[in-house]
Amino acid sequence: MQKSILLSAPLLSGNEKKYLDDVLQSPYIAAGGSYLERFENGFSPLLSPCKLIALNSGTSAIHLALILLGIKPGDEVICQSFTFCASANPIVYLGAKPIFVDSEEQTWNMCPSALEEAIKERIRLGTKPKAIIVIDLFGMPAKYDGICSIAQTYGIPLVEDAAESLGSKYKGQVCGTLGDLGIFSFNGNKIITTGGGGGLVCKDLALLEKGRYLAAQAREKVHYFEHHTYGYNYRMGTIPAAIGLGQLESLEDKVMRKRAVFGNYRRLLERFHGISLLDEPEGFYSNRWLTTVQIDPQVAGFDREDLRLAFEKENIESRYLWKPLHLQVAFRGLPYYGGNVAEGIYEKGLCLPSSAHLTIREQNRVVDVIASLYQKGI
Ligand SMILES: *Cc1c(COP(=O)(O)O)cnc(C)c1O
Repeated sequence: MQKSILLSAPLLSGNEKKYLDDVLQSPYIAAGGSYLERFENGFSPLLSPCKLIALNSGTSAIHLALILLGIKPGDEVICQSFTFCASANPIVYLGAKPIFVDSEEQTWNMCPSALEEAIKERIRLGTKPKAIIVIDLFGMPAKYDGICSIAQTYGIPLVEDAAESLGSKYKGQVCGTLGDLGIFSFNGNKIITTGGGGGLVCKDLALLEKGRYLAAQAREKVHYFEHHTYGYNYRMGTIPAAIGLGQLESLEDKVMRKRAVFGNYRRLLERFHGISLLDEPEGFYSNRWLTTVQIDPQVAGFDREDLRLAFEKENIESRYLWKPLHLQVAFRGLPYYGGNVAEGIYEKGLCLPSSAHLTIREQNRVVDVIASLYQKGI
């Protein structure tokens, strides 16, 4: 059996180990400490004028964002359907109701006209949605001109789930800063990792401080344990922060490598009919977290499952795209607006191995498997 090729393995090439060793020497391994501060401050140049607080997951960051927006039981929150379940689960934690919206073909993210249709219809039915959650899927920014102007028109705050798009840009503005609140994930296979963690991003520093307070059990600033409300244990520890600081220092390099991986796939796959990659529209800059392909079975003669199985035989990890949430049993019966764009992309899509340090030899191995399916004429 050939060596395995993973979907997106972390690249730990910088100071991660040095910082980690340093933390392990310190008297309070797991509590706050300077690495947490350094990790958070490390984002300031990139995100300015926004700042970031580091949390224990991207999911807690979304939960906290919705809490800061005052989402209450019975409220409605609009969410892009084409995403990982973590984008919508926190809506349910709060007793609120997810309203799902379809994607458009150019970015695979929330369709502005379906969004507006959803808002109008919910208002007509008597409940104005309290927040909108937009995702930058696989690193591609959503169409923010349209989405932000609709959010503004109706006075609904926007949460940007940038879990997959750290380092991406929309018309020069970095992802994570395009909504009223933004979130990142530093889970194991994301573009930078802390082994597990997340971040909450906001321009309103008073609101962000409130988030910091709630994420640390809502402890009042006195020497004993005084609480005026209930909070959450959502802060990031020092050990993940130390790894994260090392990771963050080479974010730019990782984005360049991911984009190079995408560029190589584009070149290597050009000759195959029925396989396509997602282009960046004018003004969009994707970190290309994962390279995804669309397979048209009518033209290619095989589908995504044939390809996935062929990869598996060669010890190559590939994965379906996110199954749209309005099709998930967990979210059955909830309102959905739009057509079958997300569903169609899902059914034709496969994520290819996309590690930042994937070699050209490994990419050739991936492409050889694709070529073999054409020869077989499945
Ligand atoms: C990874 C991911 C999350 C959740 O992040 P965790 O750190 O795993 O909790 C949320 N949304 C999207 C789109 C993701 O890809």
